[in-house]
Parts: sequence; structure tokens; C-alpha cells
Amino acid sequence: MRFSKMLIPTMKESPSDAEVVSHKLMLRGGYIRKLSSGIYSYLPLGLASIRKVERIIQEEMTRAGAQELLLPMVQPSDLWQESGRWQKYGAELLRFTDRHNRESCLGPTHEEVITDLVRKNIHSYRELPLNLYQIQTKFRDEIRPRFGLMRGREFIMKDGYSFDASEKGAEETYAKMNTAYHRIFERCGLKFRAVEADSGSIGGSFSHEFMVLADTGEDTVVACKNCSYAANMEKAQAAVSPQEQQDMLDLQKVETPGKRKVAAVCDFLNINPQDLVKTLIYMADGAPVAVLLRGDHEVQEVKLQNLLGADEIRLADDKEVFDATGVPSGYLGPVGSQIRKVADLEVTRMINFAIGANEKNFHLLNANLHRDFKVESTGDIRMVTEHDNCPKCNGSLELTRGIEVGHIFKLGTTYSIALKATFLDNQGDEKPFIMGCYGIGVSRTVAAAIEQNHDKDGMIFPMPIAPCQVIILNLSTQDEEITGAAESLYQSCLDNKIEALIDDRDERPGIKFKDADLIGIPLRVNIGKNFSKDRHIEIKIRSTGETLSVPADEAFETIRTFVSKAMNTTI
Ligand code: ATP
Ligand code: MG
Repeated sequence: MRFSKMLIPTMKESPSDAEVVSHKLMLRGGYIRKLSSGIYSYLPLGLASIRKVERIIQEEMTRAGAQELLLPMVQPSDLWQESGRWQKYGAELLRFTDRHNRESCLGPTHEEVITDLVRKNIHSYRELPLNLYQIQTKFRDEIRPRFGLMRGREFIMKDGYSFDASEKGAEETYAKMNTAYHRIFERCGLKFRAVEADSGSIGGSFSHEFMVLADTGEDTVVACKNCSYAANMEKAQAAVSPQEQQDMLDLQKVETPGKRKVAAVCDFLNINPQDLVKTLIYMADGAPVAVLLRGDHEVQEVKLQNLLGADEIRLADDKEVFDATGVPSGYLGPVGSQIRKVADLEVTRMINFAIGANEKNFHLLNANLHRDFKVESTGDIRMVTEHDNCPKCNGSLELTRGIEVGHIFKLGTTYSIALKATFLDNQGDEKPFIMGCYGIGVSRTVAAAIEQNHDKDGMIFPMPIAPCQVIILNLSTQDEEITGAAESLYQSCLDNKIEALIDDRDERPGIKFKDADLIGIPLRVNIGKNFSKDRHIEIKIRSTGETLSVPADEAFETIRTFVSKAMNTTI
């Protein structure tokens, strides 16, 4: 690859609409260009890095026994009607009508299409298990496309689907995919963590997200400092507090004029938020529910939705609160209230707490669950905090930031039942396939790699997913000797399958140094003044800044050793 001939439109300044570092650097480094909101062109360097990630994925999928295929991007609405998602999916699904008035959509994911393919072609348990995947452009009309490749509308995903004859088989396939995903992100050279994720109605630990750790990540990773426990916020639990031990005191009503917020009530009553229970009103599938939580805790809505078994939940607005309770928010409480009530687990550990009196300007002291009011159910519905302990070993929990690059999920029979996708088992009985699905955001992985690995000068790619391994700077294109040495080193790289880019542009050294650092190639070779002086060549390691000065005739071996080490240590 010759810099002079390649489309690498680097820029000095970051475009003003780029907020996160990967987005800025990919634009500045000439990796991508925006076509429209959430839609990007991948330029040669960007695509080269994406292809590297794809190769690693393909190799590991083959190793795990999965087969690659390619499904259509345009999908007919009938299949989505069958699965029930034509109605359910919402505005992220881009729908359109063709010239024959047939409704279609652009694939945001492919459960329907793959289940249709398998139901038409696989009929016996003898043909199972089957594990199929593709690497394809997906379209999701995201409400807030942002951060470049991190959350695009059009993006590249690897999506895989497995079909098993038994629960046990499906669990084995899941375990294989889990191992394959660990290998993929290790081989990419990324620091990551696999975390337990919410598996909705499936239950068990059959959903994991793979998070690239980076301070700028959108997601929170909860991890134990002491053991291997790790989960995302939707799933993370905390060790439950011990039951408070004290006698129940008499319920007492106190005036709290104008005190509506937890902090104001606590100040006024001279108590801690841990001694107060707050009452929030949610709308669950259109009906109000009172949700009780310790004063210093926050609701985790996915957990709440699972406890309520609702399709949709949201916080009620002021009018809905008043219509449901007859009381303005701030003084809500369960005592004497007729609406459906649920409480967080921690509330069940408390004795003699303060709570809204369900009457404007009043609170109750010494309230107690069961004695003063009942709830329909209790469960873990709160957000874990840094002050919590591990549910497995009681060690301290730590909250860090991560970027979700992969997700594996045991689907069970949801799609096979909806689409009547069945096979004959070894008894001759008709059974639905037991499915799993496995996604990787390929384009997001490249962006996440940059979020994790960069400095003020630019990107720092891990060798296995860098667009190329070495950049050779010819620092004096007018000088025949220097040019000869640079070209000969470049040729040696090509002959030995080392991926090199030679900067043969007629530019000042300063510009070449800056561009090389910006585009993040792991090894940079400078051939300039020192070569003329004493036949030495400088090799700079992008990640550490370390510079080696080696005789020209040893340069190639030094590069080869470094590259093979960096490529192999992660395999
Ligand atoms: P998110 O919560 O980030 O929206 P998701 O749960 O919708 O992700 P999946 O449906 O599991 O994601 O898709 C599989 C993978 O595709 C994700 O793990 C992520 O890496 C990637 N991905 C999802 N949405 C986008 C997007 N808008 N842009 C880029 N990559 C995406
Ligand atoms: Mg999404």
C-alpha cells in the first residue's frame, strides 16, 4: 500500500459534530466519512481494520463448528407478522413498500429469516445441531444515532443462530459460543469482560454481554473485586442487607409541609435516606403500580418489568399519579392505598421506616411492611451501587464503564414456536427447535478498540486488528539512497506477507510523523538522516513510544520478530 496512491484523507482538526474519541480519530485519520445521520462510508483503512476483525470471527466460528452463509437484507413483512414482531418492533424497523405494494423491511436482525430457512430445510434430529452465521450490514433506525460507528443506523454485524434438538444440546452450543467469543476478543487484543446479562423470560445464566472496557463506554459493568462475578446493570445483584432487628413502634403521622424530595424530607425529619421508603408510580401496560424502594436506591427498570411481567413500563406523569392516587407526588405512600404495589427486597429488611402518608404535606414514621400495608410481590428491582457487596462472595463491587461489542443469548423456542419450525425427534415426535443467537458489532468493535487504545496523537491499534502492521516513512523522497532503502524494506515486507504501508508522499517529515501517529499503525519505521549518516533505521513502537535504532540490514528481521510476536501472543 502506497500512501501517495491511497485514499487516506487525514485532517488536522476534529469535525465539530464528533463527540467521542473514536469518532473524532476515525474521521481525522481518514478511516470513515459520514454520508448521512448514522450512515458512514468505510474508507480503505477503516475497511482494512473491519476485515481483520471479520477474519478473526470467521476463524473462531469455523473452529466452533459454525457455518457462514449470507441472508438477504430485505425481508418480507409476512415473516415478521408470523413472529409477531411487525407490530412489536417499533420505529427502529425501517419499513417500506415495493412497486407491487408488498411491505418489507431492512433487516435489523435475522431470527425470522433464519428460522424460515431452517424450517423449510431441516426435518430430523439427525441433522442437528446446526449453527449458522453471517457477517452483514444491518439497518436499525436508531432514535439517536451517535458517536460514529459506535451507534450507527447502518452498521456491520456478525449474527449467528443455533438450532438444537434438546435443552442439553442447546446449553452445550451456548457454552461453545461463549468460549469462541472469549477467543475472538482476546485475539483482537482487547481488554474486555464477559458479563451476565438479562435473559428475560429464559432465565438462568444464558445471556452474556461482551464489554470492551473503556472509560467512555455507554454501559456500566458491575464486577466483584474479589471473585469472578460480573454483570451488567440490568442483571447485577447485590448481597441483600441483613434483616433489621428491633421492636416495631407505633405508626405516627407527622406534618412535612412542602417537603417532597427524599433529601428535604430526611433533613426535616432528621433521618437518613436509608431509613425512608419512597413510593414511585409506574404505568405497567397502561395500569398504575406503586413501586416501593429504600430512599437512597434507584429503580432498575428491566428488573422491575420482569417482576411485573409487563410488556411495557414507564414512570407515570404528574397527572397519571394524581388520577391513580389522589395525592401529589412527594407524599405518596402505600398505607391505605388501593392500587397494585410491589417492593424492592431491601424494603423487606427494614423496620420502622418513614414513608409518605398518602396525604398532601404529611409523612408516616415507624411504618412496617405486612403490619401497616401489604404488597403484591417483592423482588430485586433496584440499581446496584458502588457501596454494595457481591451476591456471590460478599466482596466489594466495582462499577466500571464498558462498550457492548457482543451478546450471546439462549432464545429457547420463542421463534420456533411462533414460526412453527419443527423437526422429528428420535421418537418420531414433532418438536420445536431450541435456538440460540449470537451477535457481534463488527464496526462497533473497531470503534471500541480505539476508545480503549489511543493517546493525544491518535489511535493505537492492537496489532491483530490494525489496518496494517508497519508504516515505513521515506523521509526524503528526493534522496536516492534513502528512497532505495525504504523501497527495499517495503519490498521485503511484501515478499514475506508483512502488511506494510509506505509513506512515499512528497511531504515534510513532520507531517508524515503526525499522520503515522494519527492512523495508529503499531510499528513505524523512519528512514531519513540517520540512514545517510550511519546506515541506521529507527523503529518506533506506537503503543509504548519506545524507539529502536537498528542497522539497515537488520531492520527487516527486527520487524518480523516484533510482528510475529504481537500476532501470536494473543492466539
Ligand atoms: P444496544 O443495547 O447497544 O443498542 P443491542 O442490544 O440492540 O445493542 P444486539 O441486538 O444484541 O444489540 O446486537 C448485537 C451487537 O450489535 C451488539 O452487541 C452491538 O455490538 C452491535 N450493535 C447493536 N446496535 C448497534 C448500532 N446501532 N451500531 C453499531 N453496532 C450496534
Ligand atoms: Mg439496540
